[in-house]
Amino acid sequence: MKLKQDWLEQRAQITLPSCAFIAGQFVNTTQTYKVSNPATAEFLVDMSACDANDVEQAVQHARKTFSSGVWSRLAPRERKQILKKLAELIRENAEELALLETLNVGKPIQDSLHVDIPGAASCFEWYAESIDKIYDEIAPTSADQLAMVSREPIGVVAAVVPWNFPLDLASWKLAPALATGNCVVLKPAEQSPFTALKLAELAKQAGIPDGVLQVVTGLGHITGQALGRHPDVDCLVFTGSTETAKKFLAYSAESNMKPVWPETGGKSANIIFADADLDKAVDKAIFGAFYNQGEVCSANSRILLEKSISQQFVEKFIAKAKTVKIGDPLDPNTTMGCLIDRQHADNVRAAIDQAKAQGAQSHIIPLNLDAALDPATYVAPTILTGVNPEFKIFHDEVFGPVVSITTFETQEEAIELANHSIYGLAASIWTKDIQKAILLSKQLLVGTVSINTVDALDVSTPFGGYKQSGYGRDLSLHAIDKFTQLKTTWIQL
Ligand code: NAD
Repeated sequence: MKLKQDWLEQRAQITLPSCAFIAGQFVNTTQTYKVSNPATAEFLVDMSACDANDVEQAVQHARKTFSSGVWSRLAPRERKQILKKLAELIRENAEELALLETLNVGKPIQDSLHVDIPGAASCFEWYAESIDKIYDEIAPTSADQLAMVSREPIGVVAAVVPWNFPLDLASWKLAPALATGNCVVLKPAEQSPFTALKLAELAKQAGIPDGVLQVVTGLGHITGQALGRHPDVDCLVFTGSTETAKKFLAYSAESNMKPVWPETGGKSANIIFADADLDKAVDKAIFGAFYNQGEVCSANSRILLEKSISQQFVEKFIAKAKTVKIGDPLDPNTTMGCLIDRQHADNVRAAIDQAKAQGAQSHIIPLNLDAALDPATYVAPTILTGVNPEFKIFHDEVFGPVVSITTFETQEEAIELANHSIYGLAASIWTKDIQKAILLSKQLLVGTVSINTVDALDVSTPFGGYKQSGYGRDLSLHAIDKFTQLKTTWIQL
């Protein structure tokens, strides 16, 4: 296992990316913005800030390349080989990618190295392997007609992604978009552009033709808005907040009516019944609430406990939370790093204060940080008990290491509490009675229900939400629907 010192030495040897990637080249832009390491507040680079002209260049190159057919008309089997090569290169460069991810967002290096980066490689590999196994259709029309239903790439896809899983979430969009023959303009979050730029370099090395993938770095309201309003973008896939998703819907309505596919916020319930395996439920509830500093859209940030076990559960949960190792993200022993920036950390602290003011009791795990770390971006894991559905914390996505605990007495009450949200991304149920779990899962208005686990996820299963958690699905073969048009061709025999 690499030690912190080894990572620091590697950090001194690598060149941090700082330019946008358009038409197969790293390009400087007129404007830049500063990127720093949230864990230490160390300045990292002046990063290209793409404006509307840069976005125009990126979209034009994507369009020209799409029309040329160099990628869009390549046999699926050939695209497959190139995307498999890209997966291989991601694995070969896993340490550098993990380091770039952790420097950008402050997540523990072990998570970047063992979860995020391998996840991205597997995603490219899965779609590469799928794409030459998908057949078109012939419709059951009358005998003197032949109606062929075929999938075609949609064209120029814009992908706008957030900072919590930068490479993974970019891969969830890029892998199916590229596998189906589209050209893509990717906009990473302003805080986390490094792995997207390294990915572009690896994509070129894998043999993806210039112009198929561009990365426009920059600020949301400038770069993101320019993509959202661009009349020559055929489809926009988005992961981020519900608030920003609504802006993209408006940009689309006010421009070319491009389909917008939003994957947005969540406030997932973790329902724990008295007959659950309590120790397992506690372990996984810790993961569900605090993994990735709680900066997870499907984080199980609302624990709903059957009243008879609430005291026992809370004691065990607090004891387990004390074992979380909060510290330097480059230390391989760290299991919780810092939040994305000071502003976000302030917002999380304000949400905790407000919950306390409304009457919640707080249990805070003490922080003991090295002097080199920035205390302003670290928030201690916080457990809020006595939360009732009138509290703001019960509804708002806090996106930090904060979990609220509410009790219930009946199954009906548990379901009502769980569904009492504008979001519907995920939920968990803990019980040894599997029939009860399945019947209840049918009543939950969410995209994923995990039974006796939390946040279950695989590249082969669709991921997305009900209600204001978005629509459409990432991952699985269902994601391909977003990136393809269906064409019907009739032949009169
Ligand atoms: P965000 O909405 O602030 O930003 C997401 C992206 O949109 C970034 O690239 C940003 O630059 C861009 N953007 C911001 N404002 C914009 C504007 N006015 N016009 C155009 N583009 C703009 O979200 P965030 O803070 O980066 O990420 C956290 C959010 O992401 C949380 O709400 C979380 O739940 C959500 N999320 C959802 C999923 C999912 O799959 N459902 C996964 C991860 C994160």
